[in-house]
Amino acid sequence: KLAKSTGQRCVFHAPELHARIAQRLEMENQLRIAVEREQFVLRYQPRINMHSGELVGAEALIRWQHPGRGLLEPSGFILLAEETHLIVPIGAWVIETVCAQQAAWLAAGIGAVPVAVNLSSVQLAHTNLLKTVADALRRHNLDPKFLELELTESAVMVEPDLATRTLRSLRQLGVRLALDDFGTGYSSLAYLRRFPFDTVKIDRSFVTHITQNAEDAAIATAAIAMAHRLNLTVVAEGVETQGQFNFLRSNACDEMQGHYFSAAVDAATFEGQLRSSRRLPLTENETAG
Ligand code: C2E
Ligand code: MG
Ligand code: MG
Ligand code: MG
Repeated sequence: KLAKSTGQRCVFHAPELHARIAQRLEMENQLRIAVEREQFVLRYQPRINMHSGELVGAEALIRWQHPGRGLLEPSGFILLAEETHLIVPIGAWVIETVCAQQAAWLAAGIGAVPVAVNLSSVQLAHTNLLKTVADALRRHNLDPKFLELELTESAVMVEPDLATRTLRSLRQLGVRLALDDFGTGYSSLAYLRRFPFDTVKIDRSFVTHITQNAEDAAIATAAIAMAHRLNLTVVAEGVETQGQFNFLRSNACDEMQGHYFSAAVDAATFEGQLRSSRRLPLTENETAG
């Protein structure tokens, strides 16, 4: 069975490889059509102030309404979108859709809702990013300070000098900038300070075992302390339990996202959460003082 024994590895594996290439091409074609037909939807995950329990905004998370495969998560298509650069029009659709939604919430009397949007390194390198963001904000007559753009450490490290310039221009526009998935890359927060971030999001991988693993707890608390010294707001990602919530809260983490409060939900459900100004009960902490 092993190709090794015959020395004809490529012959044995060619059909499999061929199938994989055909599958990828098909996905790529489907993704192109998806862009044309706007087969995407956004989910909104609430962001909570850990001290007041108040809902303070949301992160927009994309899904692909695939004609044959149902609702696809980003892990099923973002990489392909980046490799084909289709992430540029897809990302523009996300920015436009978020701005339209923010304008709709304003018009409905709900108010200005801060929303964070994820950007890929491919978008960051693309010359049109600044114009795409500025045009969408202007078209919907929005105050830029309610739009936050999230970039991962690895995204800004692809071309650090170009990223620095682009991020400064975006900042001048008045949008906020967040460093996403902090702790998963190779650079230090001190180095990353050269980029004009407002917010640091501590990656879920440090939050998951925060109450059991002393190293994860040490990394998270050190990151919070350092971020605060650098005047950055700290958001914890992937908070699922009251134990994680309490630990982060007593270690001065500012905000959080996670299933402990809510998963990412459709716009109507999120609107309901906004309208009822649903709050997290802070009982445990209030008794703990
Ligand atoms: P991310 O920006 O770090 O987003 C957080 C991910 O964690 C989301 O997954 C969210 O649904 C999930 N999550 C939130 N709270 C919890 C929790 O308590 N437990 C667990 N297990 N998971 C939680 P999602 O929506 O599948 O997105 C995955 C990634 O795809 C995002 O990671 C982001 O990097 C990327 N992405 C999503 N939307 C876009 C987009 O519009 N553009 C680009 N370029 N990337 C996007
Ligand atoms: Mg997911
Ligand atoms: Mg994000
Ligand atoms: Mg993240």
